[in-house]
Amino acid sequence: MENQRGKGLSFARRIYWPRIIGLGIGSISVCATIYPLPLPAWVWALLLFHGLLWPHLACQLSTRSAFPYQAERRNMLYDSLLGGFWAATMQFNPLPTVTILSMMAMNNVAAGGLRLFIRGGLVQCGGILLSWALLGASFNTQISALQIYACLPMLTLYPLAVGMVCYRLAIKLHEHKRALSALSRTDSLTGLLNHGSWKDLLHIKFHKCQQRQIEASIALIDIDHFKAINDTYGHIVGDSVLRHLSNELRRNLRHDDLAGRYGGDEFCVILPRMSHQQALEVMERLRRVFNQYRHPQVAELQVSLSIGLAAFRPAYLDPSSWLHAADQALYQAKHCGRNRIASNDDMEHLVQAQMA
Ligand code: GH3
Ligand code: MG
Repeated sequence: MENQRGKGLSFARRIYWPRIIGLGIGSISVCATIYPLPLPAWVWALLLFHGLLWPHLACQLSTRSAFPYQAERRNMLYDSLLGGFWAATMQFNPLPTVTILSMMAMNNVAAGGLRLFIRGGLVQCGGILLSWALLGASFNTQISALQIYACLPMLTLYPLAVGMVCYRLAIKLHEHKRALSALSRTDSLTGLLNHGSWKDLLHIKFHKCQQRQIEASIALIDIDHFKAINDTYGHIVGDSVLRHLSNELRRNLRHDDLAGRYGGDEFCVILPRMSHQQALEVMERLRRVFNQYRHPQVAELQVSLSIGLAAFRPAYLDPSSWLHAADQALYQAKHCGRNRIASNDDMEHLVQAQMA
Protein backbone atom coordinates (compact mmCIF):
# COMPACT_ATOMS: atom_id res chain seq x y z
CA MET A 1 0.00 0.00 0.00
CA GLU A 2 2.90 2.35 0.82
CA ASN A 3 3.82 3.13 -2.75
CA GLN A 4 0.40 3.05 -4.34
CA ARG A 5 -1.06 6.23 -5.77
CA GLY A 6 -4.17 7.42 -3.90
CA LYS A 7 -3.84 4.75 -1.17
CA GLY A 8 -4.14 5.63 2.51
CA LEU A 9 -6.65 8.46 2.15
CA SER A 10 -8.92 7.04 4.84
CA PHE A 11 -5.85 6.45 7.06
CA ALA A 12 -4.93 10.13 6.66
CA ARG A 13 -8.50 11.23 7.45
CA ARG A 14 -8.71 8.90 10.47
CA ILE A 15 -5.70 10.60 12.05
CA TYR A 16 -7.12 14.14 11.68
CA TRP A 17 -9.19 14.29 14.92
CA PRO A 18 -6.79 12.36 17.18
CA ARG A 19 -4.00 14.73 16.01
CA ILE A 20 -6.13 17.82 16.79
CA ILE A 21 -6.88 16.44 20.26
CA GLY A 22 -3.37 15.06 20.92
CA LEU A 23 -1.41 18.14 19.85
CA GLY A 24 -3.97 20.55 21.32
CA ILE A 25 -3.83 19.08 24.81
CA GLY A 26 -0.15 18.10 24.46
CA SER A 27 0.78 21.74 24.00
CA ILE A 28 -0.96 22.54 27.34
CA SER A 29 1.59 20.33 29.16
CA VAL A 30 4.48 21.89 27.15
CA CYS A 31 3.12 25.35 27.98
CA ALA A 32 2.94 24.54 31.72
CA THR A 33 6.58 23.41 31.65
CA ILE A 34 8.28 26.08 29.52
CA TYR A 35 6.44 29.20 30.73
CA PRO A 36 8.97 29.99 33.52
CA LEU A 37 11.93 29.55 31.11
CA PRO A 38 13.53 32.51 29.31
CA LEU A 39 12.78 31.38 25.76
CA PRO A 40 12.73 33.49 22.58
CA ALA A 41 9.36 34.46 21.10
CA TRP A 42 9.75 32.17 18.09
CA VAL A 43 9.57 29.11 20.41
CA TRP A 44 6.11 30.24 21.56
CA ALA A 45 5.10 30.89 17.96
CA LEU A 46 6.29 27.39 17.07
CA LEU A 47 4.29 25.89 19.95
CA LEU A 48 1.18 27.77 18.82
CA PHE A 49 1.70 26.57 15.26
CA HIS A 50 2.35 22.93 16.29
CA GLY A 51 -0.53 22.76 18.76
CA LEU A 52 -3.23 24.55 16.77
CA LEU A 53 -2.41 24.93 13.07
CA TRP A 54 -0.26 21.93 12.21
CA PRO A 55 -3.09 19.27 12.51
CA HIS A 56 -5.07 21.09 9.79
CA LEU A 57 -2.04 21.67 7.58
CA ALA A 58 -0.96 18.02 8.04
CA CYS A 59 -4.41 16.84 6.98
CA GLN A 60 -4.31 19.04 3.85
CA LEU A 61 -0.82 17.83 2.98
CA SER A 62 -1.73 14.14 3.25
CA THR A 63 -5.25 14.19 1.76
CA ARG A 64 -4.14 16.32 -1.23
CA SER A 65 -1.03 14.23 -1.84
CA ALA A 66 -0.93 11.71 -4.69
CA PHE A 67 0.44 9.25 -2.11
CA PRO A 68 -1.59 9.97 1.09
CA TYR A 69 -0.18 7.02 3.05
CA GLN A 70 3.43 8.12 2.52
CA ALA A 71 2.52 11.76 3.19
CA GLU A 72 0.82 10.84 6.47
CA ARG A 73 3.80 8.80 7.64
CA ARG A 74 5.96 11.81 6.82
CA ASN A 75 3.63 13.96 8.94
CA MET A 76 4.04 11.52 11.83
CA LEU A 77 7.81 11.86 11.55
CA TYR A 78 7.44 15.68 11.67
CA ASP A 79 5.38 15.13 14.85
CA SER A 80 8.22 13.00 16.25
CA LEU A 81 10.82 15.64 15.31
CA LEU A 82 8.89 18.32 17.17
CA GLY A 83 8.17 15.86 20.02
CA GLY A 84 11.95 15.47 20.51
CA PHE A 85 12.36 19.24 20.18
CA TRP A 86 9.78 19.92 22.93
CA ALA A 87 11.28 17.25 25.23
CA ALA A 88 14.69 18.96 25.09
CA THR A 89 13.15 22.46 25.27
CA MET A 90 11.30 21.37 28.45
CA GLN A 91 14.77 20.41 29.77
CA PHE A 92 13.60 16.77 29.93
CA ASN A 93 11.17 17.48 32.73
CA PRO A 94 10.22 13.84 33.38
CA LEU A 95 6.41 13.85 33.41
CA PRO A 96 5.58 15.94 30.31
CA THR A 97 8.57 14.46 28.43
CA VAL A 98 7.52 10.85 29.05
CA THR A 99 3.87 11.70 28.37
CA ILE A 100 4.55 13.35 25.00
CA LEU A 101 7.22 10.94 23.76
CA SER A 102 5.28 7.81 24.78
CA MET A 103 2.06 9.03 23.12
CA MET A 104 4.00 9.72 19.93
CA ALA A 105 5.65 6.30 20.13
CA MET A 106 2.15 4.76 20.51
CA ASN A 107 1.03 6.56 17.33
CA ASN A 108 4.07 5.40 15.40
CA VAL A 109 3.68 1.77 16.49
CA ALA A 110 -0.06 1.81 15.70
CA ALA A 111 0.48 3.33 12.24
CA GLY A 112 3.68 1.64 11.08
CA GLY A 113 4.73 -1.08 13.51
CA LEU A 114 8.30 -1.49 14.74
CA ARG A 115 9.80 0.20 11.66
CA LEU A 116 8.00 3.49 12.16
CA PHE A 117 8.61 3.24 15.91
CA ILE A 118 12.39 3.03 15.34
CA ARG A 119 12.39 5.74 12.67
CA GLY A 120 10.23 7.92 14.92
CA GLY A 121 12.71 7.37 17.80
CA LEU A 122 15.67 8.39 15.62
CA VAL A 123 13.80 11.47 14.40
CA GLN A 124 12.96 12.35 18.02
CA CYS A 125 16.71 12.26 18.74
CA GLY A 126 17.14 14.65 15.78
CA GLY A 127 14.55 16.97 17.39
CA ILE A 128 16.49 16.88 20.68
CA LEU A 129 19.74 17.81 18.90
CA LEU A 130 17.94 20.63 17.07
CA SER A 131 16.69 22.11 20.34
CA TRP A 132 20.13 21.80 21.94
CA ALA A 133 21.73 23.48 18.91
CA LEU A 134 19.26 26.39 18.94
CA LEU A 135 18.55 26.81 22.66
CA GLY A 136 21.37 25.03 24.48
CA ALA A 137 21.21 21.81 26.53
CA SER A 138 19.95 21.79 30.10
CA PHE A 139 18.09 19.40 32.42
CA ASN A 140 15.45 19.87 35.09
CA THR A 141 13.99 16.99 37.08
CA GLN A 142 11.67 19.06 39.30
CA ILE A 143 7.95 18.41 38.70
CA SER A 144 5.49 21.05 39.85
CA ALA A 145 1.81 20.43 40.73
CA LEU A 146 0.81 22.55 37.72
CA GLN A 147 2.79 20.29 35.38
CA ILE A 148 1.08 17.21 36.84
CA TYR A 149 -2.38 18.72 36.28
CA ALA A 150 -1.38 19.95 32.82
CA CYS A 151 -0.42 16.41 31.80
CA LEU A 152 -3.68 14.83 33.00
CA PRO A 153 -5.76 15.72 29.88
CA MET A 154 -3.08 14.21 27.65
CA LEU A 155 -2.94 11.05 29.77
CA THR A 156 -6.71 10.57 29.80
CA LEU A 157 -8.29 12.14 26.72
CA TYR A 158 -5.76 11.19 24.08
CA PRO A 159 -5.78 7.41 24.78
CA LEU A 160 -9.60 7.67 24.72
CA ALA A 161 -9.49 9.28 21.25
CA VAL A 162 -7.03 6.65 19.95
CA GLY A 163 -9.15 3.88 21.51
CA MET A 164 -12.24 5.20 19.68
CA VAL A 165 -10.36 5.23 16.37
CA CYS A 166 -9.18 1.63 16.94
CA TYR A 167 -12.70 0.52 17.89
CA ARG A 168 -14.19 2.10 14.74
CA LEU A 169 -11.48 0.45 12.68
CA ALA A 170 -12.21 -2.95 14.25
CA ILE A 171 -15.92 -2.58 13.42
CA LYS A 172 -15.07 -1.64 9.82
CA LEU A 173 -12.71 -4.61 9.51
CA HIS A 174 -15.39 -6.94 10.84
CA GLU A 175 -17.88 -5.61 8.26
CA HIS A 176 -15.34 -6.05 5.45
CA LYS A 177 -14.62 -9.59 6.63
CA ARG A 178 -18.33 -10.44 6.56
CA ALA A 179 -18.76 -8.92 3.11
CA LEU A 180 -15.74 -10.82 1.77
CA SER A 181 -16.93 -14.07 3.29
CA ALA A 182 -20.40 -13.57 1.68
CA LEU A 183 -18.69 -12.78 -1.62
CA SER A 184 -16.59 -15.93 -1.45
CA ARG A 185 -19.78 -18.00 -1.07
CA THR A 186 -21.65 -16.31 -3.91
CA ASP A 187 -21.70 -16.86 -7.66
CA SER A 188 -20.91 -13.45 -9.17
CA LEU A 189 -23.22 -13.68 -12.20
CA THR A 190 -26.38 -14.91 -10.50
CA GLY A 191 -25.91 -13.97 -6.84
CA LEU A 192 -26.82 -17.56 -5.85
CA LEU A 193 -24.61 -19.82 -3.75
CA ASN A 194 -21.55 -21.01 -5.63
CA HIS A 195 -20.66 -24.65 -6.20
CA GLY A 196 -18.43 -25.02 -3.12
CA SER A 197 -20.73 -23.42 -0.58
CA TRP A 198 -23.80 -25.27 -1.95
CA LYS A 199 -21.95 -28.57 -1.55
CA ASP A 200 -20.97 -27.66 2.03
CA LEU A 201 -24.66 -27.10 2.78
CA LEU A 202 -25.57 -30.37 1.06
CA HIS A 203 -23.28 -32.19 3.53
CA ILE A 204 -25.00 -30.48 6.46
CA LYS A 205 -28.52 -31.23 5.15
CA PHE A 206 -27.61 -34.83 4.34
CA HIS A 207 -26.49 -35.48 7.92
CA LYS A 208 -29.60 -33.76 9.29
CA CYS A 209 -31.81 -35.98 7.11
CA GLN A 210 -29.88 -39.06 8.23
CA GLN A 211 -30.08 -38.25 11.93
CA ARG A 212 -33.64 -36.93 12.13
CA GLN A 213 -35.30 -38.83 9.27
CA ILE A 214 -36.46 -35.61 7.64
CA GLU A 215 -37.91 -35.69 4.15
CA ALA A 216 -35.93 -33.65 1.63
CA SER A 217 -35.11 -33.57 -2.06
CA ILE A 218 -32.36 -32.16 -4.20
CA ALA A 219 -32.71 -31.03 -7.81
CA LEU A 220 -30.15 -30.54 -10.57
CA ILE A 221 -31.51 -28.13 -13.15
CA ASP A 222 -29.94 -27.70 -16.58
CA ILE A 223 -30.88 -25.30 -19.40
CA ASP A 224 -31.54 -27.19 -22.63
CA HIS A 225 -29.30 -26.46 -25.62
CA PHE A 226 -27.72 -23.55 -23.84
CA LYS A 227 -24.60 -23.73 -25.98
CA ALA A 228 -26.78 -23.19 -29.05
CA ILE A 229 -28.35 -20.11 -27.36
CA ASN A 230 -24.85 -18.70 -26.80
CA ASP A 231 -23.75 -19.56 -30.33
CA THR A 232 -26.86 -18.12 -31.99
CA TYR A 233 -27.57 -15.00 -29.90
CA GLY A 234 -24.29 -14.33 -28.11
CA HIS A 235 -23.03 -14.66 -24.56
CA ILE A 236 -24.76 -11.49 -23.32
CA VAL A 237 -28.15 -13.03 -24.14
CA GLY A 238 -26.86 -16.30 -22.61
CA ASP A 239 -25.95 -14.47 -19.40
CA SER A 240 -29.39 -12.82 -19.20
CA VAL A 241 -31.00 -16.29 -19.50
CA LEU A 242 -28.83 -17.52 -16.61
CA ARG A 243 -29.80 -14.47 -14.53
CA HIS A 244 -33.46 -14.97 -15.38
CA LEU A 245 -33.35 -18.58 -14.18
CA SER A 246 -31.70 -17.50 -10.92
CA ASN A 247 -34.46 -14.89 -10.41
CA GLU A 248 -37.14 -17.51 -11.05
CA LEU A 249 -35.46 -19.79 -8.52
CA ARG A 250 -35.63 -17.02 -5.93
CA ARG A 251 -39.27 -16.28 -6.79
CA ASN A 252 -40.46 -19.89 -6.79
CA LEU A 253 -38.60 -21.32 -3.82
CA ARG A 254 -39.18 -20.91 -0.12
CA HIS A 255 -36.87 -18.76 2.00
CA ASP A 256 -34.97 -21.75 3.42
CA ASP A 257 -34.65 -23.71 0.17
CA LEU A 258 -31.02 -23.55 -0.90
CA ALA A 259 -30.36 -22.67 -4.54
CA GLY A 260 -26.91 -22.53 -6.09
CA ARG A 261 -25.16 -22.44 -9.43
CA TYR A 262 -23.50 -25.81 -9.87
CA GLY A 263 -21.46 -24.52 -12.83
CA GLY A 264 -22.05 -23.31 -16.42
CA ASP A 265 -25.77 -23.65 -17.19
CA GLU A 266 -26.43 -26.12 -14.36
CA PHE A 267 -28.17 -25.11 -11.12
CA CYS A 268 -28.77 -27.02 -7.90
CA VAL A 269 -31.42 -26.83 -5.20
CA ILE A 270 -31.93 -28.42 -1.79
CA LEU A 271 -35.60 -28.60 -0.75
CA PRO A 272 -35.64 -29.52 2.95
CA ARG A 273 -38.73 -30.68 4.89
CA MET A 274 -40.72 -31.37 1.72
CA SER A 275 -42.31 -34.58 0.43
CA HIS A 276 -41.19 -35.90 -2.93
CA GLN A 277 -44.59 -35.05 -4.42
CA GLN A 278 -44.38 -31.45 -3.22
CA ALA A 279 -40.82 -31.15 -4.59
CA LEU A 280 -42.08 -32.43 -7.96
CA GLU A 281 -44.81 -29.78 -7.97
CA VAL A 282 -42.35 -26.98 -7.14
CA MET A 283 -39.99 -28.07 -9.92
CA GLU A 284 -42.84 -28.48 -12.40
CA ARG A 285 -43.99 -24.92 -11.64
CA LEU A 286 -40.43 -23.68 -12.19
CA ARG A 287 -40.14 -25.58 -15.48
CA ARG A 288 -43.41 -24.09 -16.79
CA VAL A 289 -42.62 -20.54 -15.67
CA PHE A 290 -39.17 -20.70 -17.27
CA ASN A 291 -40.71 -21.98 -20.52
CA GLN A 292 -42.63 -18.70 -20.78
CA TYR A 293 -39.52 -16.51 -20.70
CA ARG A 294 -39.40 -13.90 -23.44
CA HIS A 295 -36.16 -12.00 -23.96
CA PRO A 296 -36.93 -8.29 -24.59
CA GLN A 297 -34.61 -8.07 -27.63
CA VAL A 298 -34.79 -11.63 -28.96
CA ALA A 299 -38.49 -12.45 -29.29
CA GLU A 300 -37.92 -15.80 -31.02
CA LEU A 301 -35.74 -17.17 -28.19
CA GLN A 302 -37.26 -20.32 -26.65
CA VAL A 303 -35.87 -21.76 -23.43
CA SER A 304 -36.55 -24.91 -21.47
CA LEU A 305 -35.23 -26.84 -18.50
CA SER A 306 -34.36 -30.43 -17.79
CA ILE A 307 -34.54 -31.31 -14.10
CA GLY A 308 -33.22 -34.29 -12.19
CA LEU A 309 -34.90 -34.70 -8.81
CA ALA A 310 -33.74 -37.02 -6.04
CA ALA A 311 -35.59 -37.57 -2.77
CA PHE A 312 -33.41 -38.43 0.23
CA ARG A 313 -33.16 -42.16 0.93
CA PRO A 314 -31.78 -43.57 4.22
CA ALA A 315 -29.88 -46.06 2.05
CA TYR A 316 -27.62 -43.31 0.69
CA LEU A 317 -24.28 -43.66 2.44
CA ASP A 318 -23.00 -40.15 1.78
CA PRO A 319 -24.03 -36.84 0.15
CA SER A 320 -22.30 -37.88 -3.08
CA SER A 321 -24.67 -40.86 -3.51
CA TRP A 322 -27.62 -38.48 -3.14
CA LEU A 323 -26.10 -36.09 -5.67
CA HIS A 324 -25.32 -38.95 -8.00
CA ALA A 325 -29.00 -40.01 -7.92
CA ALA A 326 -30.03 -36.47 -8.96
CA ASP A 327 -27.38 -36.48 -11.69
CA GLN A 328 -28.67 -39.79 -13.05
CA ALA A 329 -32.22 -38.42 -12.99
CA LEU A 330 -31.05 -35.35 -14.93
CA TYR A 331 -29.34 -37.59 -17.48
CA GLN A 332 -32.62 -39.47 -17.81
CA ALA A 333 -34.57 -36.22 -18.36
CA LYS A 334 -32.13 -35.19 -21.11
CA HIS A 335 -32.17 -38.66 -22.62
CA CYS A 336 -35.98 -38.79 -22.77
CA GLY A 337 -36.20 -35.58 -24.85
CA ARG A 338 -35.40 -32.64 -22.46
CA ASN A 339 -37.88 -30.03 -21.15
CA ARG A 340 -39.02 -32.41 -18.43
CA ILE A 341 -38.44 -33.66 -14.90
CA ALA A 342 -37.11 -37.10 -14.03
CA SER A 343 -36.73 -38.35 -10.49
CA ASN A 344 -35.00 -41.16 -8.63
CA ASP A 345 -38.53 -42.43 -7.87
CA ASP A 346 -39.25 -42.96 -11.60
CA MET A 347 -35.91 -44.63 -12.10
CA GLU A 348 -36.39 -47.01 -9.17
CA HIS A 349 -39.81 -47.97 -10.56
CA LEU A 350 -38.25 -48.48 -13.98
CA VAL A 351 -35.57 -50.77 -12.52
CA GLN A 352 -38.22 -52.70 -10.56
CA ALA A 353 -40.37 -53.09 -13.71
CA GLN A 354 -37.38 -54.30 -15.72
CA MET A 355 -36.51 -56.82 -13.00
CA ALA A 356 -40.11 -58.08 -12.73
P1 GH3 B 1 -27.82 -29.75 -23.05
O1 GH3 B 1 -29.19 -29.52 -23.55
O2 GH3 B 1 -27.38 -31.17 -23.23
O3 GH3 B 1 -27.62 -29.27 -21.65
O4 GH3 B 1 -26.85 -28.89 -23.97
P2 GH3 B 1 -26.11 -27.56 -23.59
O5 GH3 B 1 -25.74 -26.91 -24.88
O6 GH3 B 1 -26.91 -26.77 -22.67
O7 GH3 B 1 -24.86 -28.10 -22.76
P3 GH3 B 1 -23.37 -27.77 -22.76
O8 GH3 B 1 -22.81 -28.26 -21.43
O9 GH3 B 1 -22.66 -28.29 -23.97
O10 GH3 B 1 -23.32 -26.21 -22.80
C1 GH3 B 1 -23.21 -25.41 -21.70
C2 GH3 B 1 -22.70 -24.09 -22.20
O11 GH3 B 1 -22.77 -23.10 -21.20
C3 GH3 B 1 -21.25 -24.14 -22.64
C4 GH3 B 1 -20.62 -22.88 -22.08
O12 GH3 B 1 -20.00 -22.12 -23.08
C5 GH3 B 1 -21.82 -22.11 -21.55
N1 GH3 B 1 -21.52 -21.32 -20.38
C6 GH3 B 1 -20.91 -21.72 -19.24
N2 GH3 B 1 -20.86 -20.71 -18.36
C7 GH3 B 1 -21.45 -19.64 -18.96
C8 GH3 B 1 -21.67 -18.29 -18.56
O13 GH3 B 1 -21.35 -17.86 -17.43
N3 GH3 B 1 -22.31 -17.47 -19.44
C9 GH3 B 1 -22.70 -17.90 -20.68
N4 GH3 B 1 -23.31 -17.06 -21.48
N5 GH3 B 1 -22.45 -19.15 -21.08
C10 GH3 B 1 -21.85 -20.01 -20.24
MG1 MG C 1 -27.42 -27.39 -20.74
